[in-house]
Amino acid sequence: MATKHKGRAIGIDLGTTYSCVAAWEEQNGRAEIIVNDQGNRTTPSFVAFTDSQRLIGDAAKNQAAANPSNTVFDAKRLIGRKFKDPTIENDLKLWPFKVVSGDDDKPMIMVNYKGKEKCLAAEEISSMILTKMKEIAEAYLESSVNNAVITVPAYFNDSQRKATKDAGVIAGLNVIRIINEPTAAALAYGLQKRDKCSGKRNVFIFDLGGGTFDVSLVTIENEVFEVKATAGDTHLGGEDFDNRMVSHLVQEFKRKNRVDITRDPRSLRRLRNECEKAKRTLSHANETTIEIDALFQGIDFRFSITRARFEELNRDLFVKCMEIAQKCLDDAKMQKREIHDVVLVGGSSRIPKVQSLLHNFLEGKDLCKSINPDEAVAYGAAIQAALLSESYSIVPNMVLVDVTPLSLGIATHGDLMSVVIPRNTAIPVNMGSVFVTIEDYQSAATFPVYEGERSKASENNLLGLFSLSGLPLVPRGHPINVSFELDFDGILKVSAKDETTGSKNGITITNEKGRLSSAEIKRMIEEAAVFKEEDKKFKKMIKAKNALDYYVYRMEKALKDFDVSSMISPSEKQRIKAALRDGKSLIQNEHQTEASVFENYLKKLQNITNQ
Ligand code: ADP
Ligand code: MG
Repeated sequence: MATKHKGRAIGIDLGTTYSCVAAWEEQNGRAEIIVNDQGNRTTPSFVAFTDSQRLIGDAAKNQAAANPSNTVFDAKRLIGRKFKDPTIENDLKLWPFKVVSGDDDKPMIMVNYKGKEKCLAAEEISSMILTKMKEIAEAYLESSVNNAVITVPAYFNDSQRKATKDAGVIAGLNVIRIINEPTAAALAYGLQKRDKCSGKRNVFIFDLGGGTFDVSLVTIENEVFEVKATAGDTHLGGEDFDNRMVSHLVQEFKRKNRVDITRDPRSLRRLRNECEKAKRTLSHANETTIEIDALFQGIDFRFSITRARFEELNRDLFVKCMEIAQKCLDDAKMQKREIHDVVLVGGSSRIPKVQSLLHNFLEGKDLCKSINPDEAVAYGAAIQAALLSESYSIVPNMVLVDVTPLSLGIATHGDLMSVVIPRNTAIPVNMGSVFVTIEDYQSAATFPVYEGERSKASENNLLGLFSLSGLPLVPRGHPINVSFELDFDGILKVSAKDETTGSKNGITITNEKGRLSSAEIKRMIEEAAVFKEEDKKFKKMIKAKNALDYYVYRMEKALKDFDVSSMISPSEKQRIKAALRDGKSLIQNEHQTEASVFENYLKKLQNITNQ
């Protein structure tokens, strides 16, 4: 049984393109999706830096075209990966912000903040988004919230999961559990369906979002949710569909005007934003027109695109989704007709072509659209958060059993992957295996731990390495017990023990290269506090500036509208006018960033005008 945590807990869907936060509402027996300060139920996973401030969410996305190189998005594509990862290489070409290789080939994002170059890890960008989601929840719940369940794509590997957890720590959150997004969606769906169905149900979760694609087969029986199989692609989603449209329109623009806009990030961002909008329109209309004034070198852009054209541009990607869906069924050894329900998750699952392909693929099965595809994941995360928190007495009677998405094992002689925990094993789990020495009188053995499905170990992902020394000097074939312990979050501990000597060693896969060290995390937490302080200071300054601005405006209007000559002398009027003029130039002075300067000037003005 998992331990329960003190205090309220929220569920956060940390998406590649959009994030969503929800909290369990005991009195209503359901989770509530919490709206942000803009009134939106999802928040863009964007962070931007300017000369004067840091912006997160809608505010960051809204200014992206004007400030492309300092507006960071897609951090989830970078988190827990190496700079030289081939998928990153492709992304780099499309990102308007700069990413460089840091220590241990860790990708680092370079931005300009307050006139200075700043270097940030993906964990830090994600932590800023998490901070925003935490604040959205706190504003709604009117109390501080520290505990959170955060969701990740089912295909996230060990280092991506840990990096996400680190992001939570930097954001000041106690990450009580990391769960798979499709599992969370199944929980949300299960809660709705629970009363209506009895017996065992096989639920197929089809999650096509902005950046990732996940399919899962989840069985629901009584209160137990079990993920039977998962498949997916960490690099397939709405942004790829946008990119196809962008590339197509870039070519069209080139053909018509003989200019290449790809080198101008601002134009590219404007085009991309419009493409995303057009794509959404094409989910309910057959044709739409993209119009952008002075897109590049003063040339206006106008282009009509049909749904058929959009589908054509993305046909192979849509087909790929069905192939992955098939793989998931194969893994679960399940026939299409054995599926009871199909749940659509992720904004891109709204695309009609995707729905019709899936409908055909599943031989005419109805697709469930009763849960909101943008919110299901956060909803489920909030249920899981409530189940793990002491603060709620009325919680759904559910238990979540999750599985490991990748096989885990040790490389043995000849670079062979010897699997200890096969993929799709329910977690938490402890499994062991006996390995034997391969040389006579071998005094030490090394255990390289890998995750992945290839039989050649070196083609899988190396998680870490440890050695066991002090072995008895005996001929080869001496047995060593190795045990793998996988916790609730899917995080692994491996240990080896020699029974004859009692010699023992092991690792928790934490200090793997590319991962943040505890010192770095500590520094980032401190920096996050500095950021927060600066944001607060900036808000205070803007408030003071606006108050002054409003006062100047009211006074100017009063001087104009009323006949004040009877009340004050002309010289007095001149004095007030001059003071107002000075106030205005103070407001217009961009270098003035101290709230107290505006506050003091307001007081001074009030004194002058009240005399
Ligand atoms: P993620 O979890 O990967 O961040 P979401 O599930 O929030 O993604 O989905 C976001 C994606 O869905 C974006 O690419 C967005 O353009 C796309 N999207 C949202 N609504 C629609 C729609 N009506 N038609 C097509 N795509 C949509
Ligand atoms: Mg998502």
